[in-house]
Amino acid sequence: MSTPNALISSLPQHVGSPVTVRGWVTHLRSSGKIAFIVLRDGTGILQCVLVKNQLPAEVWAGFAELTQESCVAVTGEVRAEARAPGGHEMGVTGLELLGASPVDYPIQPKEHGVDFLLDQRHLWLRAPRQVAILRIRHEIEQAIHDFFYEREFVHVDTPILTAAIGERSGLFSTEYFDQGNAYLAQTGQLYGEAAAAALGRIYTFGPTFRAEKSKTRRHLTEFWMIEPEMAFYDTHDNMRLQEDLVSHIVRRVLDRRPSELAELERDVSMLEKVVAPFPRIDYGDAVITLQGKGSAIQWGDDLGAEDESLLVADYHSPIFICNYPKEAKAFYMKENPDDPRTVLCNDCLAPEGYGEIIGGSQREDDHDKLLQRIHEEKLPVDAYGWYLDQRKYGTFVHSGFGIGLERTVAWICGTPHIRECIPFPRMMHRLYP
Ligand code: ATP
Repeated sequence: MSTPNALISSLPQHVGSPVTVRGWVTHLRSSGKIAFIVLRDGTGILQCVLVKNQLPAEVWAGFAELTQESCVAVTGEVRAEARAPGGHEMGVTGLELLGASPVDYPIQPKEHGVDFLLDQRHLWLRAPRQVAILRIRHEIEQAIHDFFYEREFVHVDTPILTAAIGERSGLFSTEYFDQGNAYLAQTGQLYGEAAAAALGRIYTFGPTFRAEKSKTRRHLTEFWMIEPEMAFYDTHDNMRLQEDLVSHIVRRVLDRRPSELAELERDVSMLEKVVAPFPRIDYGDAVITLQGKGSAIQWGDDLGAEDESLLVADYHSPIFICNYPKEAKAFYMKENPDDPRTVLCNDCLAPEGYGEIIGGSQREDDHDKLLQRIHEEKLPVDAYGWYLDQRKYGTFVHSGFGIGLERTVAWICGTPHIRECIPFPRMMHRLYP
């Protein structure tokens, strides 16, 4: 009778019985009489022990064929072993080579430059650090879906090929039959607003594209954004939802991904401090604070990355910067009735220098004011006819925001650059692999 296959993560249930584990070799070591294989299968790592005088000669000989990244099936009894990597050990009785790996595996246990690693991204993904980041990314994605599902939001998919455009520059375009140019979506928000009038509270979760020539540690040309849009939420309701979401995500990763955070050597004491409510700072006050700290910022300017770092330095939790000047923000944001030079909006800045992770606003719900803003920004009015219809047929107070997935992952994982936070990053100079 053949032994059952088991995932490494399930081995605690198999202690004392024989199983077969399939995976890839990460380390090999032999003293001539006893040999060790460290195996990974994506769910964990397992130390396998081969004792020469207890094994058929062909099994022992099979060990000599192995190299880093060979794909193998090992069979044997599992025992708990606190000193072994992964906490379990297998006494091997059978070994089968499923896929050989030549000795020139490009990634070796030594320092490689990041450009080299990015060229080898398809293989670099196998490294323990990258596996930990992708597992945390997945946990965050699932935490977001659960958060909205529990609050009865509807997940809505918005188009990636668009004609109407939310922002003004930085669009990737492509020919679209006899319809002229189509653009890759920079945001799903405008469609999200239409869906909110149908479903009440919705969120989108999809890829977005920005053809900006930014070479910073927090810009990708393709990234994933989650954009909730809520009927009858004003700007205050909007910020409350944002802080609830962010603290929910952080708590979930702390609770469910401690070993991945440990692999990344993340200082979790900083994450433990992320608890709602987050401080709210008016844009005008932020400018005064920044000028006091030596920034050249003037009222009316958008905050630069350095300004953001200066501001968050005083806080342990994320902060909101609220009500920016109209000129610094998009046309669809609602005019602030208390100061019409500004709009009802907020950015959420992550601590530890990670900067903006969320941009949100209450949307302009007055048809004529929105039309005027479209004219002022010299946007093509015809393209926005359908968007104005939300203000024509039963206009409603509504708000929403966009949270960048990779920036959130980078902050929670404590990675210095967001390129490690997406499986295959797309940047100005990188389209391969
Ligand atoms: P920034 O000023 O930092 O470039 P933005 O103001 O253009 O960002 P929004 O349009 O408000 O950003 O997008 C919402 C969120 O999407 C941001 O808070 C951020 O988390 C994420 N985001 C925006 N641009 C990028 C990008 N190029 N790469 C990765 N994430 C991004």
